[in-house]
Amino acid sequence: MSAVPADVASRGFERLMPTYARADLVVVRGEGSQVWDADGRAYLDFGGGIAVVSLGHLHPVPLAAAREQLERLWHASNLYRTQPAERLASLLSDRFGGAQAFFCNSGAESVEAALKYARKATGRFGVVALEGGFHGRTCGALSVTGQSAKREPFVPLVPGVRFVEPNDIGALVAAVDDEVGLILLEPILGEGGVIPLENEFVEAAAALPPLLGFDEVQTGIGRTGSFFAFEQLGVRPDLVTLAKGLANGLPIGALLVGDAAAGSFAPGDHGSTFGGNPVSCAAACAVVGMIDDELLDGVRARSAELMTALQGLPGIVSLRGRGLLIGIEVRASAADVVAAAAKHGLLVLTAGEHIVRLAPPLTVSADEVDEAIDVLVRILC
Ligand code: PLP
Repeated sequence: MSAVPADVASRGFERLMPTYARADLVVVRGEGSQVWDADGRAYLDFGGGIAVVSLGHLHPVPLAAAREQLERLWHASNLYRTQPAERLASLLSDRFGGAQAFFCNSGAESVEAALKYARKATGRFGVVALEGGFHGRTCGALSVTGQSAKREPFVPLVPGVRFVEPNDIGALVAAVDDEVGLILLEPILGEGGVIPLENEFVEAAAALPPLLGFDEVQTGIGRTGSFFAFEQLGVRPDLVTLAKGLANGLPIGALLVGDAAAGSFAPGDHGSTFGGNPVSCAAACAVVGMIDDELLDGVRARSAELMTALQGLPGIVSLRGRGLLIGIEVRASAADVVAAAAKHGLLVLTAGEHIVRLAPPLTVSADEVDEAIDVLVRILC
């Protein structure tokens, strides 16, 4: 594998809009839990492309499914039926226990679909969402994102949104009135600091009249040790949004509506040219097929290994999360820890000023977890 010369690899950098504070690391190849930079240096990818590469880079099963579909049909439009989208809808319905799917291309789009669906189904425009929550950057998704610094440059946004603190049942109940059609929650606030919701809070939300929507863009598809994170919370939501890990890195998003709440979208109510793309859906079918008990046992085992090894390190204030979505509250700046880890060949994420986030591929091995622990111990001791 020859390295790509740095001048070739970085050409065009200044022609990209500076919407991201990108690290100066040109990623050119990936396999399993590893990626390589343009100089041929290997890194252990414990960010997983921000919780996206659920089965590891270049996993042969979704790769074969996508390749087979690429050679058959890339696009047909939603004027016609296609087999991969119907197969994926059926697989996701089975996992949910009876649901209809709308397919789109990203997490934010899946949230937009949920917001529109709730309005159409209930006739109410109000939404209760969480302080610190994150649902995406499009105007509707940003309106329900509980991070004012992200919202403020773009006000006025969509009206009718009330924010309550995670796990504050009293505030949640007080925020719901006749205008509210949707309570939208992340089972674990991901970008907002890896904050798990408590079962009692979620049960209280489910008992209220509005539709209950879970944004599982980050927590879904096995990330927390069950196919959906809500399976560990003792409730069944009306709506679920999915994206990130669903097609192992090909663009896809999905809104699932459980059968009890189904039937409110009619032709013309919503759409997306690329939604249900056959290649993405074929890869996603392969991913969903791979999320079995053995893989989920591995997620829980690797999670326990990480939690046990990191617990009590002097540089760590607290540890939280579920499965392979782990937040490490550090005394230092999280950005400094991320930079130090990269120098040692380990890629990790932040989720706030003092939260380092781990979201490795769900297929990460025990040896790779040991390697990551070695690096984190070196930095956080
Ligand atoms: N919802 C959640 C919970 C997310 O974590 C994200 C992205 O991080 C989004 C929605 C937005 O997804 P996308 O970036 O694919 O639009």
